[in-house]
Amino acid sequence: MIRLGLIGYPLEHSLSPALHEAALRASGLQGSYSLYPVCPGDVEGLDDLIHRVRTGELTGLNVTIPHKQAIIRFLDVLTSSADTIGAINTIYTRNGKVIGDNTDAPGFLTDLDRFMLPPTSALVLGAGGAARAIIYALRNGGCSISVAARRLEQAEQLAQRFPGIEVMELKAVALAKAQPDLIVNATPAGMFPAVDECPWPAGLAFPEGAVVYDLIYNPAETQLIRWAHKAGLRATTGLGMLIEQARLAFELWTGCKVDSRLLWDAVGQRPS
Ligand code: NAP
Repeated sequence: MIRLGLIGYPLEHSLSPALHEAALRASGLQGSYSLYPVCPGDVEGLDDLIHRVRTGELTGLNVTIPHKQAIIRFLDVLTSSADTIGAINTIYTRNGKVIGDNTDAPGFLTDLDRFMLPPTSALVLGAGGAARAIIYALRNGGCSISVAARRLEQAEQLAQRFPGIEVMELKAVALAKAQPDLIVNATPAGMFPAVDECPWPAGLAFPEGAVVYDLIYNPAETQLIRWAHKAGLRATTGLGMLIEQARLAFELWTGCKVDSRLLWDAVGQRPS
């Protein structure tokens, strides 16, 4: 019996149970994927869930906001990518050790591949955990990267972790000078329920020919995507990344490969 689940808060709108239950069925495995809401700062809640992985009661877990960094202290080993990124989204055991991994970074790259040729320059909006995974993924492909954050000091901390990235304030005057071929929204601005928000300043022209990738996937079309389409740009939400990170996590837990198309079907969507 494979017992999987997701730690985070809040979790009501998570698509992960639908994805992993479809993957279990398609792989012919008996199992379940449960939601484990743990309030921010509930250290005992995190400790208890990792204990259940350690004893084998749970096969593996995903981790989402706000625990991707806080959970690290309870794990035995981080993979090298998770260590560099400083955030994890997948937990499993190997040889009695509880491992923390990050499938967001390869998940993003796999989905981006579907959408565009490898970018040579990217502008990342936001400087939190997801931004770190995106920077890690793009940097390994040799892309030059700028990060725009509303708190410049947070972007400067990122530049210490990833030397060579350019940092700027998330303001029209700074963004207007950037000419990236890819813009990635790694802020929650525009995510349900604040669907009228947008990280891109209203009225600021987008760089010509840029592709816009919004990590948000709820709602299905964000304000940023609407504005990008209106400007004639190609734009996508982060649903494909969610699907790819889930596919990779499932393989780490079970050793079974599932087809991305099956996971798109599980959430009733088609790749854009
Ligand atoms: P996080 O660690 O909290 O970082 C969020 C970043 O966005 C911080 O730099 C934060 O700045 C900034 N920010 C927050 N609200 C903002 C606003 N209204 N305007 C401008 N900047 C704002 O969160 P995260 O884990 O990086 O996640 C970011 C987004 O990516 C979320 O929407 C999440 O759902 C999405 N995500 C999607 C996937 C996927 O598979 N598609 C995977 C991971 C994450 P402050 O520190 O100043 O608040």
